[in-house]
Amino acid sequence: MRPTGKLHYGHMAGALINWVDLQDKYNCFFGIADWHALMSDYIDPSNIKSNCKEMLLDWLAVGVDPNKAAIFVQSQIKQHAEIHLALSMITPLGWLERCPTYKEQILNLKNKDLSNYAFLGYPVLMAGDILLYKSFAVPVGEDQNAHLELTREVVRRFNNFYGEVFLEPETLLTKSAKMPGLDGRKMSKSYDNALNIADDMDIVWNKLRTMTTDPARERKTDPGTPEKCPVWDIHKFFNKDKEEMLELHEGCRKAVFGCIDCKKKLMVHLKKTMDPIQTRRAEFEKREDDLKQILESGAARARKVAEQTMDEVYTAMGLLH
Ligand code: SF4
Repeated sequence: MRPTGKLHYGHMAGALINWVDLQDKYNCFFGIADWHALMSDYIDPSNIKSNCKEMLLDWLAVGVDPNKAAIFVQSQIKQHAEIHLALSMITPLGWLERCPTYKEQILNLKNKDLSNYAFLGYPVLMAGDILLYKSFAVPVGEDQNAHLELTREVVRRFNNFYGEVFLEPETLLTKSAKMPGLDGRKMSKSYDNALNIADDMDIVWNKLRTMTTDPARERKTDPGTPEKCPVWDIHKFFNKDKEEMLELHEGCRKAVFGCIDCKKKLMVHLKKTMDPIQTRRAEFEKREDDLKQILESGAARARKVAEQTMDEVYTAMGLLH
């Protein structure tokens, strides 16, 4: 995951909750992709280090467990840079220029100069991130599927040239819940519409109070449709009380109560889930040495596999090492 600073509820619903589940089933490697951050923030990298720390705190707070999964910072495993270079040798330019996310990112991140050499090649670095650990499966969202397909093409080309070294990684489709932002669009830091994992409950309430609801509910007496309301999507993720959900659904449709009442009910469930997460986050924040230790032992675990893979890569490509 690219360290872009504090993570939001969308990251939690779309990725972290799944990771917590996956770490019990697989040998997981969770990397903080700081090289990827540098790729777009190379002009001013001053926030990358602190963003790595904020992201680590969010992972740990949600329950990613360093005793189960290897948690590491990408740039601390030098083999990421090596495999990137090795795979760059065999990746045709056309594959990268055609990559849909390349064009999309250039359009989306207009405030950044992405005309750098590395940015075109970022799917190669991403392929390297995956292949370095001989991963057989990667949990990605639909929007990242094109990258995984490119990784598989790189594997086929590499194995075809140099012999069977890599496996073609599969897409590990995992459930991800819809988590709209305060304005109803996708929750995103760049839209400034996010509820952050680190936000305390007063901040969350201040944000939630003004959150967009079904536009039909202009007045308290106007009936609404929960399915047209982004607050309802958040309810669906956090509110496990089926009976209350039925009451709220009915109450919205018949205008029995206003949106503020509905949001107050949501706050109760948000608090229930987020309070322990925030307590854990605050505890880890105080344990600077432990955080260092978590990254060191995660890196040692990752490095062991990465070294072995690079030995195979050098041998297969006929280089001295
Ligand atoms: Fe949304 Fe709740 Fe208002 Fe209905 S009552 S529009 S579900 S916030």
